[in-house]
Amino acid sequence: MREQIIDLAYLASSVLFILCLRGLSSPEQGKRGVFLGELGMLIAVVATLVKTEVVRYDFIVAGLLIGSTIGIAISARLPMTKMPERIAFSHAFGGLATSLVGIAEYLKMHELVLGGAAPDRLTLGALGFEVFLGALTFTGSIMAFGKLQGVITGAPVTWKAQNVMNVGAFFGALLLIAYLVAVPASPLWMFFVVCATGLALGILAVLPIGGADMPVVISLLNSYAGLAACATGFALKSNILIISGALDGSSGFLLSMMMSKAMNRSFTNVLFGAFGTGDSGGQASAKGPAKGYNEATIEDAAAVLQASQSVIVIPGYGMAVSQAQHAVRDLAAALEKRGCEVKYAIHPVAGRMPGHMNVLLAEANVPYDALFDLDMINDDFVRADAVLVVGANDVVNPAAKTDTKSPIYGMPVFNVDQSRSVIVLKRSMNTGFSGVENELFFAPNTMMVLGDAKKTILAFCAQLREGGAH
Ligand code: NAP
Repeated sequence: MREQIIDLAYLASSVLFILCLRGLSSPEQGKRGVFLGELGMLIAVVATLVKTEVVRYDFIVAGLLIGSTIGIAISARLPMTKMPERIAFSHAFGGLATSLVGIAEYLKMHELVLGGAAPDRLTLGALGFEVFLGALTFTGSIMAFGKLQGVITGAPVTWKAQNVMNVGAFFGALLLIAYLVAVPASPLWMFFVVCATGLALGILAVLPIGGADMPVVISLLNSYAGLAACATGFALKSNILIISGALDGSSGFLLSMMMSKAMNRSFTNVLFGAFGTGDSGGQASAKGPAKGYNEATIEDAAAVLQASQSVIVIPGYGMAVSQAQHAVRDLAAALEKRGCEVKYAIHPVAGRMPGHMNVLLAEANVPYDALFDLDMINDDFVRADAVLVVGANDVVNPAAKTDTKSPIYGMPVFNVDQSRSVIVLKRSMNTGFSGVENELFFAPNTMMVLGDAKKTILAFCAQLREGGAH
């Protein structure tokens, strides 16, 4: 009876996980999706804790308390811009936990096999995958965290025959797992070579990938962690782990593909292309501003906004850095009060993670129906009176449409260059995440207002107040 109730609880959790993923695919349903996922996880954890196999709770309670305290302490103080680092950090420990469970189970099974028990080859294979992928996720995620945090260089680290070596190590480990399944009484060191290869490959595979591609890598590592959890499910004969691991693995993989597509890059180019040098971080660009640009005063730019009947706001990573979302909403409200129509253009890879801009604007209570995807708004730029670019760079770079030699050529971008007047808010003339110079900033109808985006927008609001009503 108890087992049947537990199975029913797992079924309910699986359905909730699927509804969670469905909810996460739209900003309106996102919060509900997260709630359903949390509920599913709570049910799955409670159902697991009442299993008869669980004989003592002291270690579980201690782990729960320590883990929750550290998790809450980290998350409570974390700014949104650090979310990719936070996710990489969590994946690292997910991978480590999976690996340790796999090692413990393998050692148990190996002892039984040496004692004469018949080997369960499916479980052996699952344990091999679990430990290999878990170890790879652990070190790979630590590397991704280090690159994003700037502890390790964000530039791709490459050397000759690197890809051949990495692919060789990957298939070598798979062959060794196959051998361990075929010969279950193999010496233990062979199994530990699989663990060590996973650990080394996590480091080696992330080294040649530039900081700009880390969000794609993190999503891919998420997918590996899911696959490792799925393999754990086979090893422990746990349906909920198989289902949730498969959901995690497939959704992480699809997300990585979608991000690559939105940047018009192939998956192999991201993984083996050694592209992206990392954020300029406000430092002077190596090339430096070669041409002239129109630096506008707050008063001049505010006057353009004041005279506009339709404004399109394009938020980018800089809005996240300066936490300007509330100020942007207030500016939009002030413009709307004057009869101006304000729309927000949301690029799929603006910021540093999928949905980054949606989350920030939702936090500032910007209504969802004011947000427009690239396809929905790209024909409107030609008609807009003014475009306000708030800390966006790559997603408004016309080189992606015109310069076949540009590394971002082919990435879909907003048609800002077709607009009558463009106001760009950023701190300097530095390049964006891809390290490519932006011709838009040197166009005759572009006004550059240099400085922190939030401060500039607050100054615009003050100007509009001073300017009074029409
Ligand atoms: P971006 O190209 O990285 O440019 C952001 C700009 O914000 C920078 O040029 C920076 O210029 C400015 N900035 C930084 N702090 C600022 C502040 N406090 N105030 C004002 N401006 C500030 O950003 P994006 O246009 O959003 O493009 C996103 C990039 O990330 C794309 O290359 C995309 O492919 C990549 N990416 C995104 C994802 C994703 O899922 N969203 C995933 C992978 C890769 P200054 O330093 O001069 O201020």
